Amino acid sequence: MKDLPSLEEARALDRNDPLSALRKEFHLPQHGGQDAMYFTGNSLGLQPKAAAKALQVELDDWARLGVEGHFHGQHPWVNYHDRFVDGLTHLTGAKPHEVVAMNGLTVNLHLLLISFYNPKAGRTKILCEAKAFPSDRYALCSQIKLHGGNPATDLVEVAPREGEHHLRTEDIVAAIQETGDALATVMIGGVNYYTGQLHDMEGIVRAAHKVGATCGFDLAHTMGNVPLELHNWEVDYACWCSYKYLNSGPGAVSGVFIHERHVRDAQGLGTAMQRLEGWWGHDAESRFKMAPDFVPMPSAEAWQMSNAPVLNMAVHKVALDLFLSVGMSALRERSLRLTAFLEEVVGAVAELTGTSLEILTPRDPEARGCQLSIVAHGHGRALFDHLMAHGVVVDWREPAVIRMAPVPMYNSFEDIVRFGHVLKAGLEELGPKA
Ligand SMILES: *Cc1c(COP(=O)(O)O)cnc(C)c1O
Repeated sequence: MKDLPSLEEARALDRNDPLSALRKEFHLPQHGGQDAMYFTGNSLGLQPKAAAKALQVELDDWARLGVEGHFHGQHPWVNYHDRFVDGLTHLTGAKPHEVVAMNGLTVNLHLLLISFYNPKAGRTKILCEAKAFPSDRYALCSQIKLHGGNPATDLVEVAPREGEHHLRTEDIVAAIQETGDALATVMIGGVNYYTGQLHDMEGIVRAAHKVGATCGFDLAHTMGNVPLELHNWEVDYACWCSYKYLNSGPGAVSGVFIHERHVRDAQGLGTAMQRLEGWWGHDAESRFKMAPDFVPMPSAEAWQMSNAPVLNMAVHKVALDLFLSVGMSALRERSLRLTAFLEEVVGAVAELTGTSLEILTPRDPEARGCQLSIVAHGHGRALFDHLMAHGVVVDWREPAVIRMAPVPMYNSFEDIVRFGHVLKAGLEELGPKA
């Protein structure tokens, strides 16, 4: 790319891609009378236009029926969580009894660790990536302390090599082997929130199982970003949030995956496993007999404690249906093209302005999702202010890291080209630095 593409060229690329039509299913934030260049779908996905109506259906049933909405609403609330199984199995590659939508992400991470981290069995260590998302690290450390352990020795954090930005799978595998039979479980972000690196989840699972440990993933930045095959990869457990790439609204419901062999184990057919329990995990047929003893659902639903927060989850359904309507593999294909295009545009801006724009994210498309994390060396807050003032919504981390995600569901080639022109003008105005 010698020069930046023109808006006309970008629009032609958009016209040639049938998936461009998805954008009109979303509300785009506005800036100066036109669509903002919104690249923070990795932080909060945009609102599907059908969200308000879906929410209104539940509000109307509540108004019209009161408590009877549990059984006689359009979507009876008593089984409300069943509505998410199709979407979640599609996105995770799970079997229907391996997934359930519930709670918030960090809450679910704790619930899963109660089941998958049992240091009494002699294995006391949890392995994760260095600089994990803070909430995950807090959860892991507090679980270790809950069991009387010491995070300084029981949390094994794998860091990139000196001078490198991402983890090599071989280094994760080596750390797993080294920890050996002291390792209880591996818990890593499927896609790293900071660098955008996509891990070889299947390879990590295999290494963990070889030393007798379980392996789970935080999929906050992975769900709806790349296709997954959690069941076939034999992932033990996973959790995610739905307000990032899943576009289900601020603080929207999380979800979990529990491999069927553990669902069986927890039924009492295999090894003993701890689980925190509540009435919505009880066998649905006899739940309302209100008997004192817990009879688990034969599925991941056994981990569900409370009845579904219907108003929160109504939008989740609309959002998942959009994924089902096109399919994750078509979205991934478009995502690969959009991100490669962004990479080219950033490269062209660097060259045209004589700026060092270093991409922290792996250059191999197979080792990343849609996000690129870019360091504008020598630049600071003024560059971010310039971008925001011109309608570019990106995430900024000091000293000068721009995290941005061209989301295949609603971002366009035009967004990327407009961003390129704003970035170029900003760098020219602020002058080339280091
Ligand atoms: C976004 C994110 C969270 C947020 O946790 P909540 O419990 O939903 O507030 C946690 N972990 C990771 C890796 C994230 O990306």
